[in-house]
Amino acid sequence: MSDTKEKIGLIIFSIFFLSDINAQKNETVTLSSEQFNQIKATATELYRKLDRVTPGERGAPPSDAFVLFDGSSLDEWQKPYFEYRGSMVEYADRLPELKRGPHITSPADWKLEKGEMVVVPGAGHVVTKKLFGDVQLHIEWLAPKNSTKSGQDYSNSGLFFMGIYEVQILNSYDNETYSNGQAGAVYKQHIPLVNAANPPSQWQEYDVIFSAPKFSERGDLLNPARMTVFHNGVLIQNNVSLLGPTCYIGQAHYIKHPEALPILLQDHGNPVRFRNIWARKL
Ligand code: MG
Repeated sequence: MSDTKEKIGLIIFSIFFLSDINAQKNETVTLSSEQFNQIKATATELYRKLDRVTPGERGAPPSDAFVLFDGSSLDEWQKPYFEYRGSMVEYADRLPELKRGPHITSPADWKLEKGEMVVVPGAGHVVTKKLFGDVQLHIEWLAPKNSTKSGQDYSNSGLFFMGIYEVQILNSYDNETYSNGQAGAVYKQHIPLVNAANPPSQWQEYDVIFSAPKFSERGDLLNPARMTVFHNGVLIQNNVSLLGPTCYIGQAHYIKHPEALPILLQDHGNPVRFRNIWARKL
């Protein structure tokens, strides 16, 4: 690249030098097509010094990630101040609570066990204290094996961006349910492209790029929320566009909400386990 830049610099210098001499002689300079193309090419090259990021190994956080859970404590998590349960009516009713944030509530009371965060059925959801809009998120989860369970009851949890947009967590290795509710579904909105699930009781990973919806000042939707999801390294959602908040009943639509909100993990009554959670604000 530097050789090319030096050559181009020389050409530009030569052109100006020749132009000056030829101007004195009242002569015009004729460029070869190669010289002309090189000048045109440099006109569209951009140079910007980018932040250097050191990648993590095998899912470990890169150098600029915010670590949400590393196995040592639940300090980055708390009880929600807005506990969305999946209907537009409730969402609309409780929107003022959502807008009043951010709030510090009470500590998350899920279990910390063997460096893992474990859902305590009945304890309720947990949310990050930190607020996120556009974000890249890595999370590892384990759906415990339990042959007495089936369908939506088999190790169900959920990863909710902004507390309201869910990527489903479920045992989907050997467990039939509706396709738009299986693991990796953007719940009831987008079926995963493939089933990349590991067997229950094995660790699995999601890597998600979430783009928050954008609203005008008066509340019109400018851009819908979007998600790209990798499940165990396999692309299962390719920049899909969301219809609105996750609804288990009825149709979703957008109502303006704050630009940054907590990430929520769902208590759906099953002791799903989590580890190694990190996020990069985008
Ligand atoms: Mg769920």
